[in-house]
Amino acid sequence: MKITEHLKNAKSTLFSFEILPPLKGQSLKELLEGIAPLMEFKPPFVDVTYHREEFIYKKHPNGLLEKVSTKKRPGTVGICAAIMNRFHVDAVPHLLCGGFTREETENALIDLNFIGVDNVLALRGDAPKGERFLPEPEGHSFATELVEQILRMNNGRYLHEETENSYHTDFCIGVAGYPEKHFEAPSMKFDLKYLKEKVDKGAEYIVTQMFFDNKKYFEYVDKVRAAGITVPIIPGIKPIATLGQITSLPRTFFLDLPDALMDDLEKCKTNAEVKEVGIAWSVAQCKELIAANVPSLHFYTMSKADTTYKIAKEVF
Ligand code: FAD
Repeated sequence: MKITEHLKNAKSTLFSFEILPPLKGQSLKELLEGIAPLMEFKPPFVDVTYHREEFIYKKHPNGLLEKVSTKKRPGTVGICAAIMNRFHVDAVPHLLCGGFTREETENALIDLNFIGVDNVLALRGDAPKGERFLPEPEGHSFATELVEQILRMNNGRYLHEETENSYHTDFCIGVAGYPEKHFEAPSMKFDLKYLKEKVDKGAEYIVTQMFFDNKKYFEYVDKVRAAGITVPIIPGIKPIATLGQITSLPRTFFLDLPDALMDDLEKCKTNAEVKEVGIAWSVAQCKELIAANVPSLHFYTMSKADTTYKIAKEVF
């Protein structure tokens, strides 16, 4: 079922979450067993992230170069199928511009449609570390273009065919939004202009980057609405769980940790203490967001379900 229908049918704030495919060489069984307890909170959908494929050239003693994939977390499509089979919930694969040609995107969408996926989150993806984002030759530069391609397929139009096909996809498309602005955008106004373009082209809902200060989410929603965007805006929640995340999350995701949260985190000496502070902070955040009747609380579990479970137990 489409995310938009889940949201329309909901009588109160929903619970949803995102997982990462396991590292190459690790089992899916563990991941599925790990998230099984979260089914208690009846998530209508689970997102599965996508990680771009990058290649390096390895030189052999005979002088020949071998192209080697460094992809660390393959399996998004297969995991979606496994989640739908095992838990009977919708799986939402993330689809990237980066690393894909248009043809590969078309083929991935056909696979997803055939396994019964109804929703996709359309994203640009990040550049490899220290580089500028570059599309594949024949790939997309911005998420908007990916949204357009998905919509064309929904209308029965494939890449090399001008005529409409009788069999067509019917994906509900989500896109990303940034309460603290996307780091490359020179201003929030600029960022919102392109968010509007994604929605005008066919995106039906927005999932936000994680944030730790609800005020930023509420102000963002006001700005998005003022820009003329009316689709649901699902807040992304990430409980801080380790000492390392106190510096890595702001650095990686270009966000601020509020002073009050930092005051508590600075007293922590162990990961266990950080986790406790992180859970208490997220619980308070979630309670306020539920009171504001947000569509769903979407947890970035990073495939560690225990923290999310404890928070959900307190707020749902
Ligand atoms: P876009 O919407 O294309 O925007 C990128 C930048 O370009 C923005 O600054 C925007 O303002 C600007 N822009 C947009 N259109 C134009 C235009 N036409 N002209 C000029 N400028 C423009 N990454 C992964 O690799 N895998 C994942 O699974 C994944 N999941 C995510 C889930 C969520 C909910 C979020 C919030 C992010 C996720 N990301 C993921 C990270 C995401 O790929 C990065 O944040 C990426 O840098 C931007 O993606 P986007 O889709 O927001 O890009």
